[in-house]
Parts: sequence; structure tokens; C-alpha cells
Amino acid sequence: QTIDTTCPSAPGTVQDVAPVLPVASGDTFVPLVDGTSVRYANLDVAASAPALASVAARVSEVLPLYASVHRGAGYLSQVSTALYEASRQSIGAFVGARADDVTIVTRNTTDSLNLLAGCVPAQADGTPGRVLVLDVEHHANFLPWQRTGAATVLTGGATVAATLDAIEGELARTPYALLAVTGASNVTGESLPVADLVRLAHDAGARVLLDGAQLVPHRRFSLEATGVDYVAFSGHKTYAPFGAGALVGRRDWLDTGTPFLAGGGAVRNVRVDATTWHPAPARHEAGSPNVIGAVALAAACEALATVDPASLAEHEATLRARLVDGLDALEGVHVVHAWDDATDPVGVVTFVVEDHDPGLVAAYLSAEHGIGVRDGRFCAHPLLSRLGLDGGAIRASVGVGTAGEEVERLIGALASFVADGP
Ligand code: PLP
Repeated sequence: QTIDTTCPSAPGTVQDVAPVLPVASGDTFVPLVDGTSVRYANLDVAASAPALASVAARVSEVLPLYASVHRGAGYLSQVSTALYEASRQSIGAFVGARADDVTIVTRNTTDSLNLLAGCVPAQADGTPGRVLVLDVEHHANFLPWQRTGAATVLTGGATVAATLDAIEGELARTPYALLAVTGASNVTGESLPVADLVRLAHDAGARVLLDGAQLVPHRRFSLEATGVDYVAFSGHKTYAPFGAGALVGRRDWLDTGTPFLAGGGAVRNVRVDATTWHPAPARHEAGSPNVIGAVALAAACEALATVDPASLAEHEATLRARLVDGLDALEGVHVVHAWDDATDPVGVVTFVVEDHDPGLVAAYLSAEHGIGVRDGRFCAHPLLSRLGLDGGAIRASVGVGTAGEEVERLIGALASFVADGP
């Protein structure tokens, strides 16, 4: 038996808001504990976004064609090499790469940031270049810097202005090579204004890395327009399958930094006693490249680029506002914020339900309502700890494929939970 989840739109609800682009998993039905089934409501887009229907079609088209990239004279090797290099162009263009920027195809944001951590130039005394980070970061934009031993971690302030002041003060006190900041928090969807970050860092002689994992899929971002020096993002959060991501940015550090992996393709010449490495991007792409992943990510970038940026932002803002209002209206449900006054957050909302374990709430939503959310500490332990949430929280997130009906179902399901319990 299949439950009909449609119901007439009520004032103030987003029941009638349609997806911006179709996703391949749009009509997946999942079993409920009572033996019925329901259309899956994927409100865990921030973890991994479903592939766009156009991306799935492109993958099917190129799957029969793959062959060795950069390594063969055969026809399909030539086709695969051309596809791979064209994908690199599309991926770079999507994030507004400048003419002399490099686009490196990685596995994901985590790879991209670990790669960049090996490329920050050392200080004059040979010690690692200093990096300034905030405690709001996802571990992927925290641990690579912590591991260099040259990172300073700033505690975020309660407001955007207080946090910017703290960044400015720290940049004035100590010379930094890099300011590494999230483009949008994976916990709250909130961010600091990019223009201010770039101004503060550049005035102090530091570069800016933006962790774009939650920004690039949800807003039109441009390196050239913002002056950001590096951006990292993941295919599986950008409506393409797992396995491909990117680091895009200034060439000089990437041409001379430590090759990310040692292996074939990254080297110009290997001798028993001396090896010479290629410049970027090949320098950091050792091993047979993931051509299908790169093609899929490029297809997602191309599809997103066809959407009017204002309608992309408006769709998400509408769904997010309804989520926040709907959750705030429930007794004992509290939405979490990294900053009290952040503007233009992306569609990520984290909340807690008083006196209820987040894992239990998430399991209830899945088993009883067919709604997928995330629970836990979201790979952002320092922020969750500062917010007093060591016990974890629940996160709902939306994207281009999300319909308003899914958001209404979540709010309705939580209202039942709060009223009647699991
Ligand atoms: N940065 C942010 C803001 C994220 O949300 C995530 C993943 O959740 C990452 C980095 C790491 O991405 P990946 O697991 O694709 O490397």
C-alpha cells in the first residue's frame, strides 16, 4: 500500500514549492514500520546530494566509453582524455576560475584541503606556513591544518561582526599565509561575508581558502568575482556521484607544493636517485584519473549553471525559512545558530528536541515517516562542543531537488513526535 502524501496548501506552508531541477532518485519509495510505503523525503542533502537526472543520463552515456586517461594512443583513450580535460574546464569555469588558476580533480573536499595543506609555503625559518582557522569548521577544514602544527584556531564570536573583529585582530598580530574558512557551515548553513574575509586577509598579506562543500552547490560562487584564492568542493554534494571533487585556485603554491600522492602521471621523469615532478594539475593527480567522476561533476556544474542564481537562492531560502519557522513553533524544539546575525544562509538547519536523543528522533523520522535526516556531531566537534551540544543534534538540509512537500512532512512528523512521543 502506498500513502498519498499530497495535501492542499495551507497559508504559510511551502507545500506547493516544486524542485528546481529533477533528481534521479525523485520517486524512490521506502518501507515504513507499519508495512506501508511512502515517497522518500531526502532531507540529508548536505551529507550527499542526490544525482541530478541529467547527471545520471550523462554517466550512462559515457560509461561504455571509458579507457585510460593520459596514457593511451587508442581511440577510446583519446576520447576519455578529451572528456576528462573538458570536465576540468567546466568545473573550473563553474567556480569562476581566473585565467591562470589551476583546477585539480580530487576525490572530495577532504582530499582537496589535505592537498592544499601540503602546498602552503614554509616560513623563512623553514617552519610550516601559518594558517588561521575558526572553530566552526568541518573537520576536513580543520584537521589538515591542525596536523601542520602551524594552525591557530580562533573561537567564533556570537555575531558575524564580533567574529570578523577577532579575525582582523589576529591577522594584525601574526603574519599568516592562509585564512581557511567555510563558505557555509555544514551545521547551520550560515557563513561570514566573503568580501570581508578577502579584504581582511589580503590587507594582512594572507590568502583565503574557502571550504565550498556547502556553498558551491547552493549559491553561484566565483573566484574571480570574490578574489578568494582557493576553493574546495565535493561532487557528491554537488548533485553528482561520489569519487570526484575539486581544488581550484592560484597556480604558484600548487606548482611547487608537495605532490598530493606519489605515483604515475604526476612525474616528469623518475630515476633511482632523483625524480622530477610535473607542475599542477598533473603533480597532484597521480594514479589513473576518475574520468567518469569528473564527467559527472562537470555535468552537474553545467546543469546548475543553467539555473538563474536568484531562483536557486530563493527556492532554498523559502524552504529554509519554513523549516526554521516550523521548528521554532514546536514546543521543546530549538534551532541552532553559529552566529546570531548571519545573512543568506544555505539550506541547512540543525536543531535539538529537548529530552530526546537525536539518534532516536532521526530513527523515528525514518521508520515512521520515510524522512532522511542526519544526526550526530556532523564532523564539527569543536563547534558542537562550544554550543553545548556534545550529545549531538539533528540536521535537515535541502537542495535543488527538494520539494516543499518534504519540508511540510518533516514539520508534521516532528509535531506528532513532540505531541505523542515516538
Ligand atoms: N566541508 C564541509 C563544510 C562539509 O560539509 C563536508 C562534508 O560534509 C566536508 C568539508 C567534507 O566533504 P567530503 O566528505 O566530501 O570530503
